[in-house]
Amino acid sequence: MEIKELEKVQEGSIFGTLTQLGHEQVVWCHDQATGLKAIIAIHNTVLGPALGGTRMWHYASEQEALTDVLRLSRGMTFKAAISGINLGGGKAVIMGDAKTMKTEAFLRRFGKFVNSLNGKYITAEDVNMKTADMEYISMETKHVTGLPESMGGGGDPSPVTAYGVYLGMKAAVKKAFGSDSLAHKTIGVQGVGQVGMHLVEHLVKENANVFITDISEDRMKEVAARYGVRTVGQEKIYDLDMDIYAPCALGASINDETIGRLKCQVIAGAANNQLKDDVKHGYMLVDRSITYAPDFLINAGGLMNVYHEHLGNYNRKRVLEQAENIYATCLNTLSFAAQEKLSPQEAAMQLAEKRIQDIGRLRMSR
Ligand code: NAD
Repeated sequence: MEIKELEKVQEGSIFGTLTQLGHEQVVWCHDQATGLKAIIAIHNTVLGPALGGTRMWHYASEQEALTDVLRLSRGMTFKAAISGINLGGGKAVIMGDAKTMKTEAFLRRFGKFVNSLNGKYITAEDVNMKTADMEYISMETKHVTGLPESMGGGGDPSPVTAYGVYLGMKAAVKKAFGSDSLAHKTIGVQGVGQVGMHLVEHLVKENANVFITDISEDRMKEVAARYGVRTVGQEKIYDLDMDIYAPCALGASINDETIGRLKCQVIAGAANNQLKDDVKHGYMLVDRSITYAPDFLINAGGLMNVYHEHLGNYNRKRVLEQAENIYATCLNTLSFAAQEKLSPQEAAMQLAEKRIQDIGRLRMSR
C-alpha cells in the first residue's frame, strides 16, 4: 500500500492521530470496582522518562479526554526539551468528578496503573489533583512526584510555576514595549486557582493594574479581596482594554472566536495549550502584532520543581534559580522567532525539537 493510501486509512483513526503527533504509547486504564477511567499518554522518551501531571476533569466524551491527554503530553515533551531538562513528555487524564470520586482506593488503583509502566511514565499533580492525592498514589508506586515536603518531596509546584510565568511575561513585555516593567500595565488574569493567584501576587507587587476572572465566584471574590484587584466577567475578559492577557485556566482560550476580540499587546499565562491550533492561531497573533510567550516555555517552573524532586535532595532555592532562566529562554526564543519569521510558538517547538534530535543522536553514539 502506498504511503498516501496508508495516510487515508489512518485519517480519523487513533493511530492516524498518534502518527501525526508522534506518540510512543497510550495506555487505557479501567477499574470496575472504583469506577476509574484514565488514559496515560507517553509522547516521547528520548531525553528521559516521560513526566507529566495527572488531570482529573469531567470530560464530555472519551474523545475529548483523549484529545486533551495527547495534546498535553506532547506539550510536556516540548516543555522539558526547551528547558534543558532530561525528561520526556507524558501526561495522564482521569475522567470524572474530582469532588466525589477521589477515594483512597480510586487513587491507589490509579497508582497501580502508573506502576505497571515501570518508570517509563512518572506522574505529578495537575488540575483537580492535589499533593494529598499524590500521597495515596505513592502507596502503590515510586514513580510519582509532587509529594509533600514532609515526605521528601517538593510540595506544591504552583508558586514556582507562577514565578516562571511572571518572568516569562516580563521577557515578552520587554520585547513588545522595550522595557520589562509591569508597573501600571493593565493585566487580565483568567483563572485564579493555584498558579493564577500566585501570579497575581507578583503582579500586584510590581504595581500592575490587575483584573481577574474565574468560573468560581467564591474564589474570584476571595482573591480580589486578598490582593485588592478588580474582577471582570468570564466572557468580558476577552474584550477588556488590557496590555497583557494572562490565561491561567484551561487550554484553547486563544481561538478563532477570541483572537479578534483581544486588544492586548502581550499574551503570557500559565495554562497549557492556550492556542487552540498551534500553527494557525500562533500566526494569527503575529498578524495582529500580539507578542505571545509560548505557554510550555514560560510555565515550565512546575516541571522544574518536580524534576528536582525526581533527582533527589530537593532544594527550593535551586529550583527557583533554574526558573530564573525562563526570562532569558523566552527572550531568546522571541528573537529567534523574529529573525526566522516564525510565530513564537513554532520557534519554541523548533528549538525543543532540535534539542531532542541533537541529544537523541548523542545517545546513539558510542
Ligand atoms: P487550578 O485548578 O488551581 O486553577 C484553575 C482555575 O481556573 C480555577 O480557579 C478554575 O475555577 C478556573 N477556571 C476554569 N475554567 C475557567 C474559565 N473558563 N474562566 C475562568 N476561570 C476558569 O489549576 P492551576 O494549578 O492553577 O493551573 C492552571 C493552569 O496552569 C492549568 O492549565 C494547568 O495545566 C497549568 N499549569 C499548572 C502548573 C502548576 O504548577 N500547577 C504548571 C504548569 C501548567
